[in-house]
Amino acid sequence: MQEYDTVLVGAGPIGGFIANKLAEKKYNIAVFEKNKQIGIPMNCAGLVSSRVFENFGISKKGIVQNEIKGAKIHSPSGNVLSIGGDKTYATVINRTFFDQILIEKAEKNGANVFLENKIDKIFRKKEGLELRTSKNTNCFSRLLIAADGPFSNVRKTFEMQEPKEFLYGAGSELSGTNLDPDFVHIFVGNNIAPGFFAWIIPTNKEGTCARVGLCVNKNAKHSPKNYFNNLFKNKVSSTFLDDTKIEKYLGGAIPLGLIKKNFSDNIMLVGDAAAQVKPTSGGGIFPGLSCAIFCSDVAIDAIKCKDFSANFLKKYQKLCLKNVGKELVKGYRFRSIFKNLSDKQLDRYIIKLSDPHIVEVINEYGDIDFPSKLVKPIIRKAPLLLKLIIKSTK
Ligand SMILES: Cc1cc2nc3c(=O)[nH]c(=O)nc-3n(C[C@H](O)[C@H](O)[C@H](O)COP(=O)(O)OP(=O)(O)OC[C@H]3O[C@@H](n4cnc5c(N)ncnc54)[C@H](O)[C@@H]3O)c2cc1C
Repeated sequence: MQEYDTVLVGAGPIGGFIANKLAEKKYNIAVFEKNKQIGIPMNCAGLVSSRVFENFGISKKGIVQNEIKGAKIHSPSGNVLSIGGDKTYATVINRTFFDQILIEKAEKNGANVFLENKIDKIFRKKEGLELRTSKNTNCFSRLLIAADGPFSNVRKTFEMQEPKEFLYGAGSELSGTNLDPDFVHIFVGNNIAPGFFAWIIPTNKEGTCARVGLCVNKNAKHSPKNYFNNLFKNKVSSTFLDDTKIEKYLGGAIPLGLIKKNFSDNIMLVGDAAAQVKPTSGGGIFPGLSCAIFCSDVAIDAIKCKDFSANFLKKYQKLCLKNVGKELVKGYRFRSIFKNLSDKQLDRYIIKLSDPHIVEVINEYGDIDFPSKLVKPIIRKAPLLLKLIIKSTK
């Protein structure tokens, strides 16, 4: 049976990134991916901060489609909070190319990538794990890194902690839009996207193409696709969608509520598999890559020390929690308030936040990767908001 230093389950962006980190060190790595092609199907809005390139040494070439300078947030009754406009806050990426470039790098450095190979069965043996794929490939490794997405099979097999909740998405690539390419549109409301929000993101510099979509929570009355269709009829959102053409449908799920114990003997969970996702926006690329660095470092140490015990791998959990984990935990607290707001409350907050003094604060402190940085300065500027928040949680 083929033996590897590390086996990665899943060739999404997080699995691809870690595979490259380990392959660069010349370890014998296998990546198993159930899909036929990397990055397809693409289920992502593709909005990331420039940190994704700067912090992780990923080149922007061929990946960046557009740059976003601000956002227009629409309340259920049509009030608009307009933020930013002054500088680039986010980048729109071609997610398929992004995933492909990461895995190509790993392959160039020697990683063995097996497509259409779903990891079906995992058996715990005395020294490590034996894996069997849908193509009857058998292999053995002392270290398994599960980057197998929101509904991680590895997490389930080993009865590890589950995310607190899942959001379910529906969306599409659109052509024929007539948008200001600098601004994304966000729509909130219980008839628009219960428990989350809908978005329109211009995907080219002309504003003639966009990604439109939404996520809803489990208790939503209708299916995500129903809410998606409604965006084209709703009086607030439809004005941006008239006379457009749907090119391709998108879907997907987002896990929320960081899994704190993300390791076990011989196993580490990473990316969506560990719900390393910002609960306020559903963005998982930046936090997933941040934790992927820790995961790779601990994997390299484990291989060097030949120690794959939970006791050794727990360093990974500590690093995640000490760094990006803190922000994700704070984000989930904010989400717990947000998801229960009525349309009336959403309207009221958006009107309050539109005060020019508050917009100034949002523009100064707003950061899509660290939204909690905004809380204190906003409360300082508008203590009344804190009262409103406390009232809405009662
Ligand atoms: C609608 C929507 C919009 C989003 N928008 C954004 C955004 O704008 N910005 C952002 O940062 N994030 C966004 N996200 C989140 C982002 O897409 C994820 O956080 C990111 O894809 C996580 O990467 P990953 O590698 O952990 O998991 P995935 O990308 O899910 O990759 C997991 C891979 O594992 C494979 N796999 C699963 N099980 C097995 C198995 N048993 N054997 C072999 N292979 C397996 C899957 O086929 C998949 O390729 C969005 C998500 C959704 C659903």
